[in-house]
Amino acid sequence: MKTLQAIRGMNDVLPDRSPAWQYLENQMRILFDRYGYREVRTPVVEETALFKRSIGEVTDIVEKEMYTFADRNDESLTLRPEGTAGVVRAAIQHGLLHNQIQKVWYHGPMFRYERPQKGRYRQFHQFGAEIFGLEGPDIDAELILMTARLWQQLGIAEHITLQLNTLGTQDSRNRYRADLVTFLRAHEDRLDDDSRRRLETNPLRILDAKHPQTQQLLNDAPDFFAYLDTESAEHFAVLRAELDKAGVSYEVNPRLVRGLDYYGRTVFEWVTDQLGAQGTVLGGGRYDALVEQLGGKPVPAIGFGMGVERLLLLLETLEVIPPAAFNTVDTYLMSMGEEADGRLLQIAEQVRDANPGLRVQTHLGGGSFKSKMKKADRSGARFALILGAEELQSETLAVKDLRTDSEQFNLDWSALDRLTGLVTE
Ligand code: ATP
Ligand code: MG
Repeated sequence: MKTLQAIRGMNDVLPDRSPAWQYLENQMRILFDRYGYREVRTPVVEETALFKRSIGEVTDIVEKEMYTFADRNDESLTLRPEGTAGVVRAAIQHGLLHNQIQKVWYHGPMFRYERPQKGRYRQFHQFGAEIFGLEGPDIDAELILMTARLWQQLGIAEHITLQLNTLGTQDSRNRYRADLVTFLRAHEDRLDDDSRRRLETNPLRILDAKHPQTQQLLNDAPDFFAYLDTESAEHFAVLRAELDKAGVSYEVNPRLVRGLDYYGRTVFEWVTDQLGAQGTVLGGGRYDALVEQLGGKPVPAIGFGMGVERLLLLLETLEVIPPAAFNTVDTYLMSMGEEADGRLLQIAEQVRDANPGLRVQTHLGGGSFKSKMKKADRSGARFALILGAEELQSETLAVKDLRTDSEQFNLDWSALDRLTGLVTE
């Protein structure tokens, strides 16, 4: 019989690597707490219409990447390809946006039917943040400063750079789009196939085409900044000034347009050169029109989505995850001899009772003393705790430091709470 396998592009996180995930998850929680964000959790499945109406009918995601299926009663449902649409839906549905500012974050799996490769999967994970009710540009700046602090906190600030752009208002984009299309039509023979198709459907996306000849052509294309409305230009100038004041450097990239239709004004990406073609770790921007588009009263909003797998790849490449994160055991408790074996679980519970924070691995399944000590060492524990006939007799545990050559000693059962201090010193 063929052995069953996970779906292509959907990964298991095995015990060896889950500490890295947990390390990052903890860092993210701490960060969001420090900036006053609260968590929101939305379902993984939504009505297909939600994504079509928010992300846009002619985007890559909606056209070819969604996991869409018919429910048992023939309703069209979709596994979420990103987090913003669901959060906006929830905020409208539960009336979170009436005359109040909301700062929320989310975390969870996203699904896109893409070609699996390094840094690109069919189930991947994002952390994201959304702020509703602030027009910025100060909140735009604060959001970006928060992400800059994250790179500091994780020790990767030198390896990641900020790209920044403004997409102006819908009106300025429309005027620009018209002239861009005129220009590109005049040179249609020089466009790659994908871009030629986009000329009809989503011409602004041509700006971030990777094809060299298309890139070349775009050098002579009309410049969006000439079409930018004054208010958006001012908004962008203040954002830049705030980032300058904070000492956060950035590159203004007029070709940065992002793949989702709902963005306007500020857009940004944090990019690394350490991960090959999949270098965008975090992307975000302002989406002031989306709440109204999904049926709410107009509320300005901005947010970002961050790819967890890509960030972990980067952390691992740069070897910046503290080794302590992988240490999941403090003490390894073993028994020797039949009588001690019979008392092992009881003593283990006593150790845990006396040390609420201590991580206690008990050795079950028998074996020689030598093999037990080997497992204790491999577990990463600081101390082996040994219960043999002598210890039973004297109501003690032998404590052996596995990481230094300090002398083994015996600890009374009445003083087991001292273990906590021993592992943290
Ligand atoms: P890309 O240009 O790399 O395709 P995107 O613009 O489609 O990214 P967003 O929709 O903005 O990405 O999602 C935010 C982040 O989520 C990305 O910057 C990336 O880190 C991550 N991400 C997006 N798609 C995938 C995927 N298929 N696998 C892993 N991570 C992904
Ligand atoms: Mg993509």
